[in-house]
Amino acid sequence: MTTTTKYIFVTGGVTSSLGKGIIAASLAKLLQAQGYRTTIQKLDPYINVDPGTLNPYEHGECYVTDDGAETDLDLGHYERFLNVPTSQSNNVTTGRIYQSVIEKERRGEFLGKTVQVIPHITDEIKHRVQILGKSGDYDIVITEIGGTVGDIESLPYVEAVRQLKWELGENNAIVIHLTLIPYLSAAGELKTKPTQHSVKTLMESGVMADILVCRTEHELPEDLRDKLAKFCNVRPEAVIQSIDASTIYDVPNLMLDEGLDKVVLKKLALDSSQPDLTQWNQFLSRHKNPSGEVTIGLIGKYVELQDSYKSILEAFIHAGAENEVKVKVESIHSEYLTARNASKKLKHLHGVLVAPGFGERGIEGKIEAVKYVRGHNIPFLGICLGMQMAVIEYSRNVLGLKEANSTEMDEQTSHPVIDLMESQKTITDKGGTMRLGAWDCELVDDSIAKDVYQTTTIKERHRHRYEFNNDYKQQIEDAGMKATGLNPETGLVEIVEIPEHNWFVGVQYHPEYKSTVSNPHPLFVSFVKAALNFKTDSNSVSMAQN
Ligand code: GLN
Repeated sequence: MTTTTKYIFVTGGVTSSLGKGIIAASLAKLLQAQGYRTTIQKLDPYINVDPGTLNPYEHGECYVTDDGAETDLDLGHYERFLNVPTSQSNNVTTGRIYQSVIEKERRGEFLGKTVQVIPHITDEIKHRVQILGKSGDYDIVITEIGGTVGDIESLPYVEAVRQLKWELGENNAIVIHLTLIPYLSAAGELKTKPTQHSVKTLMESGVMADILVCRTEHELPEDLRDKLAKFCNVRPEAVIQSIDASTIYDVPNLMLDEGLDKVVLKKLALDSSQPDLTQWNQFLSRHKNPSGEVTIGLIGKYVELQDSYKSILEAFIHAGAENEVKVKVESIHSEYLTARNASKKLKHLHGVLVAPGFGERGIEGKIEAVKYVRGHNIPFLGICLGMQMAVIEYSRNVLGLKEANSTEMDEQTSHPVIDLMESQKTITDKGGTMRLGAWDCELVDDSIAKDVYQTTTIKERHRHRYEFNNDYKQQIEDAGMKATGLNPETGLVEIVEIPEHNWFVGVQYHPEYKSTVSNPHPLFVSFVKAALNFKTDSNSVSMAQN
């Protein structure tokens, strides 16, 4: 549509956690809905090469792309909003920038030169920002700069933005600054001073904000918008209010009402039109007007932090809207789930999802949860570690292999029904070495999987080291648990089901990463439907008993 790619930089001021990712994704949605091919990129100022080695308590969920990049969870929002896959190029960290500069230095590419933050690190940042733009696939690239302006680690990024803005020229690159307008309840006033200071800090680095997006709990009155415009060198229409929303999926419409897309397109000298949000709004209306409710238990060990299971929670929102029900997710800590309290904690649920995870903590609770739902015909979805726990539970309690375990938890187990992949046995580095990204899986006839996906071969994303041990496959299948999805090249088991059960599916991959607003994941849609049926059936049973 355009000849040159246009760049939008989103910076943040005053504090972290203002929701830059949602603002970036919402803006991208509005631009996409006007026909602009748009993508988003996140630059993270920490020194880890990727978030793959970070504890979920530190950084929330690690999101995995088709090409196997372990990335920031904001990329999940980008995919869910835009329905366009992202890749390694969409997430770059300081660690990765330094790693490539140092590798170049070792190869002798800077012959004789002293390697420095400016220009070498900033050049590498500029190069990474433009990779997507130069691919020719996009009219607009939105680059979200992680962290807060003024932080030491953000400085090279802000400097790279300054240079790029200058080099790309007017109308080709703009800066949106996201800031906070705090409300002092004692004084009953909204305060602009932190924003003024933050814009000033940005200006000290030579970067002028073109647009201010102001996070606020209360409506911004006109005079306050004028004041911000005056003090911060932006036009009044470029002061955009971002008021707290009840759901992140409202933000594109809120930004539309504020005219963010119009101001952006005008500054980029691009035409604006009325975005076509028909499908989006249909989803929103289903999401907000459910005709029923189901309660699904999410059994995990990082449940204190909602961000740890971000994609799963969002996938339930998409699948709920598709089924026109509200999915109430009840988080249950696997560490405190035991044989004695399983019934108390699980008996009211209409479905149970056992979450992905690593390490030993909480796994016995997960196994108890599987045992309970298997015995009570409650719909079950096990994801990654959750699927592995289902296999262990079945081996222990149906096959009678009391010692069955994963070698991740017990290296010496006499029945390693879940074991390290052969290719993993020689790997010692932890970062970026798991089985990652999209792999083919072939579905077996007469299975829930085949019925759900309505196709023979699927591609789903992975993030794990351990696998179903095929030495036990025959035995497990003979006992009644079937392998209904297999990797066509390696024969690795991707899906297990118990046909006798109501709806019992364990998947070695992560379906949640691929669920989007316009493409709710079919497995989640079917799981929620099964939960709804289960609820209806159990209600009629209890009515019959009364
Ligand atoms: N810890 C398990 C493995 O590495 C499961 C991983 C996961 O749930 N993502 O195989």
